[in-house]
Amino acid sequence: MNNTEFYDRLGVSKNASQDEIKKAYRKLSKKYHPDINKEPGAEEKYKEVQEAYETLSDEQKRAAYDQYGAAGANGGFGGFGGGAGGFGGFDGAGFGGFEDIFSSFFGGGGSRNPNAPRQGDDLQYRVNLKFEEAIFGTEKEVKYHREASCRTCDGTGAKPGTSPVTCGRCHGSGVINVDTQTPLGMMRRQVTCDVCHGRGKEVKDPCTTCHGTGHEKQAHSVSVKIPAGVETGQQIRLSGQGEAGFNGGPYGDLYVVVNVEPSDKFERDGSTIYYKLNLNVVQAALGDTVHVPTVHGDVDLVIPEGTQTGKKFRLRGKGAPSLRGGSVGDQYVTVNVVTPTGLNDKQKEALRAFAEAGDIKVSPKKKGFFDKVKDALDDL
Ligand SMILES: [Zn+2]
Ligand SMILES: [Zn+2]
Repeated sequence: MNNTEFYDRLGVSKNASQDEIKKAYRKLSKKYHPDINKEPGAEEKYKEVQEAYETLSDEQKRAAYDQYGAAGANGGFGGFGGGAGGFGGFDGAGFGGFEDIFSSFFGGGGSRNPNAPRQGDDLQYRVNLKFEEAIFGTEKEVKYHREASCRTCDGTGAKPGTSPVTCGRCHGSGVINVDTQTPLGMMRRQVTCDVCHGRGKEVKDPCTTCHGTGHEKQAHSVSVKIPAGVETGQQIRLSGQGEAGFNGGPYGDLYVVVNVEPSDKFERDGSTIYYKLNLNVVQAALGDTVHVPTVHGDVDLVIPEGTQTGKKFRLRGKGAPSLRGGSVGDQYVTVNVVTPTGLNDKQKEALRAFAEAGDIKVSPKKKGFFDKVKDALDDL
């Protein structure tokens, strides 16, 4: 049997997840809610959406609906008693044989207690950290919206001044016994109560803020301690800061996912920090003492005479701390010797004297007009 109407009403596909169904329902029930939408036909649409959601949000009913249509889901299988009742009878339309009957009666999912408290959904939040914040740790206020317990009704789903009453159909158990006439004789089975949907409580007068769901979107903020040494992609779990639970279940968790902004000075790999130090030829040749920035402040680094490009210095303990605590990493400084450009005449003269003193023979080409033009073109 191909039953798609309820899915069409919510605008979801037949294999939509419970999340997708819930989202679609929230959107549509707001859109067509009679308090909000006064257009003709809106109330009818609202009822249709409610009906579809009641069935599709309950895995048992959904399975029955998928197999038998609306009669299967709404009749709570009661139609069976009448023999050729709501199911289209036993003349073959719904059933392929005894095996099928058994699987739909006793099949998977049926034993799960719909009354049981269920934890709310987890949420994820991305937080951007400056390079240094990730190294030293920080505290961030994160603000977001979440499904929380409705403040109007305190999460009961009932209009203020009223309260949910024990369900008259199941007397609070959330399940009802259904006697079923089958080809094998009368069978008794338990199904989720179709009045209270397993909650055991019945809301006669639903809260107008949350339309009886007991949940409403609320702005929420929480302070997160970011530990020193975090890196991009790592996450911090904040227990209970996700969305409200169901049937009195606990809130879900919030996962704060870290994104570290790059630094214009440093590179970092775990607890090691890398820094590129540009030196001019005189510093590299004669040696010098230079200020080198680190995330812990500048340090003086002694450059020995004759330092070459590519030479690495290690500054112990000037890196990032390990996330697990204990050690602090190092900073590596890599030298890059920069050849001077744009020398003035005096500098050129000095370099020629330098070459002579060291018996170095150089014969720089004197440039003519066309060479200069060619150079200019090469630079383009
Ligand atoms: Zn409410
Ligand atoms: Zn009930």
